[in-house]
Amino acid sequence: MNIHEYQAKEFFKRYRIPIPNGIVAGTPEEAADAAFKLETQRVVVKAQVKAGGRGKGGGVKVVPPKEASAAAAAMFESGIKTHQTGGKALPVRQVLVEEGVEFESGADEYYLAIILDRSAEKPVVMASAEGGMDIEAVPEEKILKMHFDVSTGVWAFEARNLGLELGLAPRAAGAFARVVVALGKLFVEEDASLAEINPLIVKPEGTALAIDAKLNFDDSAMFRHKKTALLEDLGDMLDSEKKARELDLAYIPLDEGNIGCIVNGAGLAMATMDVIQAVGGAPANFLDVGGGASKEKVTEAIKIVLSDSKVKTIFINIFGGIMRCDVIAEGMVAAAQELGLKLPLVVRLAGNKAAEGKEILNKSGLSLITANDMRDGAEKAVKAAAEA
Ligand code: GDP
Ligand code: MN
Repeated sequence: MNIHEYQAKEFFKRYRIPIPNGIVAGTPEEAADAAFKLETQRVVVKAQVKAGGRGKGGGVKVVPPKEASAAAAAMFESGIKTHQTGGKALPVRQVLVEEGVEFESGADEYYLAIILDRSAEKPVVMASAEGGMDIEAVPEEKILKMHFDVSTGVWAFEARNLGLELGLAPRAAGAFARVVVALGKLFVEEDASLAEINPLIVKPEGTALAIDAKLNFDDSAMFRHKKTALLEDLGDMLDSEKKARELDLAYIPLDEGNIGCIVNGAGLAMATMDVIQAVGGAPANFLDVGGGASKEKVTEAIKIVLSDSKVKTIFINIFGGIMRCDVIAEGMVAAAQELGLKLPLVVRLAGNKAAEGKEILNKSGLSLITANDMRDGAEKAVKAAAEA
């Protein structure tokens, strides 16, 4: 789960990581107001979209306060396209208006991030003097790495040594170290999976300021952080995606295709996609019912898949393990009856309670197309979709 820059900066504030003064705005008028309130010569208007590279994509503008409104209006109007948005513009619903900060481009810009190093089973601090640019473009040898233990956090002396290694003067290394220690604390306490500041401005006289902020959180830990979980902006999500989330089902809508797929497990989802394509078809979406879905959940899953108007047939491809085939079958029958299902339903059940599942389907009186294996099912689904 990830959040917007302005939200990440609220976490920074709480952990005493210095940030520029800023105000969030939802309209050009609010942006004008915010710029005025900041009482500064220059403001920075920043599009709040979840993608990096906003600077190069027109999503970060340094302007005099009276131009804040126009800068914001342009972002609201056309959205922001960066090298990370996959060719399309992301809608902008909020901008962050901040006090413009003076710094020496390049010289004062540092990169600082903490991620989880799975192989070391520890978080790792990554720091570089090449701040402000994409970390992917920074040569490996210019990135310093330092692991730390979650039970102790980052020690101040280690953080300071890291700063000195980056070439910072002693005072500056001290300011840098305070940010590293605080970011480490935030990372552990908030169950983050990524905490990144690029650029972190560190000046020789010994001040540090987080110009940018990025935080991702570990989804599996969000039960411990109810307030954090509420921060997620679901504005870009389809209603069907929101519904699936509520039910703890993994749903992936695709842009094209006409076969709705209900599977269990991500691996089977990918295999199903491959097989459908191999026999000349295209999936419209995937819904992964996971391990322990109840009959009710299966019913809801079918409704979600059907809510996509591109869907001409549903292919249910289940390999029963923890998920029992008879439970899937009951859910399908219930959904078909409740919805008065007209679309052809192609079903392949294998594994745990497959025989029981097939019997439930046979007795249901529904006109289902049963498949013997995955390929057979994919072929039948492609044919049914073409005829529908
Ligand atoms: P990103 O492109 O999405 O990573 O957005 P950033 O927040 O990192 O901003 C992009 C770039 O804009 C930064 O690397 C800076 O060079 C520049 N920038 C952002 N805020 C300021 C500021 O207050 N003053 C100046 N001079 N430049 C800024
Ligand atoms: Mn940045």
